[in-house]
Amino acid sequence: MTLRVLSVASEAAPLIKTGGLADVAGALPAALARQGVEVTTMLPGYPAVLAALGKTRALYKWPALLGTPARLLAGKIGDHDLLVLDAPALFDRAGGPYGDASGQDWDDNWRRFAAFSRAAADVARGAVKGRTFDLVHAHDWQAGLVPAYLRYSDDADAAPVPSIMTIHNMAFQGAFPPEIFPELGLAEAAWHVDGVEAYGQVGYLKAGMQLAYAITTVSPTYAGEIRSAEFGMGLEGIVQARSGCVHGILNGIDTADWNSANDPTLAATFSVSRLASRVRNKRALEREFGLAPGDGPLFIVVSRLTWQKGMDVLAGVLDHLVGIGGRLALLGSGDSEMEEAFLAAAARHPGRIGVRIGYDEALSHRLQAGGDAILIPSRFEPCGLTQLYGLAYGCVPVVSRTGGLADTVIDANPAALAAGVATGIQMNAVTDTMLAMAISRTANLYAQPAEWRRIQKNGMRADFSWGASGAAYAALYRQLTRTQG
Ligand code: ADP
Repeated sequence: MTLRVLSVASEAAPLIKTGGLADVAGALPAALARQGVEVTTMLPGYPAVLAALGKTRALYKWPALLGTPARLLAGKIGDHDLLVLDAPALFDRAGGPYGDASGQDWDDNWRRFAAFSRAAADVARGAVKGRTFDLVHAHDWQAGLVPAYLRYSDDADAAPVPSIMTIHNMAFQGAFPPEIFPELGLAEAAWHVDGVEAYGQVGYLKAGMQLAYAITTVSPTYAGEIRSAEFGMGLEGIVQARSGCVHGILNGIDTADWNSANDPTLAATFSVSRLASRVRNKRALEREFGLAPGDGPLFIVVSRLTWQKGMDVLAGVLDHLVGIGGRLALLGSGDSEMEEAFLAAAARHPGRIGVRIGYDEALSHRLQAGGDAILIPSRFEPCGLTQLYGLAYGCVPVVSRTGGLADTVIDANPAALAAGVATGIQMNAVTDTMLAMAISRTANLYAQPAEWRRIQKNGMRADFSWGASGAAYAALYRQLTRTQG
């Protein structure tokens, strides 16, 4: 039997993306179609999303959705159904999905994403004639109130709709002052530690975790880590209390988008059997970043420049990286202090370090295709996608042993090298010393061409497509729809 799932996300590639959530929400429909699950994605009507829709008629109208008129529009994302919440007062504004151009969060994010979640709950419960759903899949805090609206609905006779709350990053919890609670339109009973209340605030992610039928996160290791205070960031108690309902399902990658044998953005396509052509991408990357040729490894970074990603630590070891003969090409944006630190390092080491501040999808492909190794010293990493793109493109990941990085990279320790299974380099902690050692280990391995090629090829042969993860989500959907009612 075909299952119909409403996937509720605040971003989805290729329409709107600030990070990995968009890749995952964008890839789920195709991954699940192969499992007999029909996924409809629901997104807020940001300008970029509305522009992609073109002219379309409203499927449903809310005269006042948390106080503002809104309509539901229909479109397509790839071959799959898309629903868009068109609420101009909330979403049709210049800037990013969550804040203005300077990165300052919008003051009304609580209302924007409560309205989005309220609308999604209405749709999941069959507000639109002819569109019914067996389950709703809520992603991150922006959709965290969906299970709350389903549970504390004003429509007491409505059949329960099973829901899943997926945590893509526990650091972003959507906690707002208690004064907003009366504005949300939830029953009084929702203001409870078993409902939306979290340490005296309204916790959107917390509400989803409390009230969804199941909680998933994006790697098995992170699913374990968030049971601790360090990674659970205040919500570890719920993870522990609901541990029977917590699942870690690794993200996959979109192998159509990330296919080195057929990637139009590259100087030269290549594959595991045609690895020699890869060097043309390296030469092109050196030119693009103004780097002088060298014998040591060309490291790359494609990342948000934030504390989570360990970018402050990396900025502190760049002299070491250059000192051992390495070079660096970095693409990223984020904290202004870190941006400045990398720009200063580039100025200190002309021809050895090149930096692009910004967001550039095509350049991220060229970096993965031309770099020798990608540096990912994250302090925590729910899944991480850039190491998976690196593996697929022969750009060896150098990662911290945490979350999805621990689950997807096999460290080149003596045993793994002897067994011929290594795919990257791991470090045990994100400190200057550990990162410098990992960089040195990488350079030593790089200096052994046969060993290095083996590591590259192991990574390229590893399967991180959506097959297994799509099947895991489908199995969970089926389990939850069977057990309800
Ligand atoms: P997170 O979602 O925490 O930022 P992930 O590794 O899960 O980290 O996903 C990041 C995604 O965003 C990847 O697809 C990566 O290639 C992309 N990305 C990050 N920074 C940039 C950038 N400056 N330009 C282009 N793509 C970027």
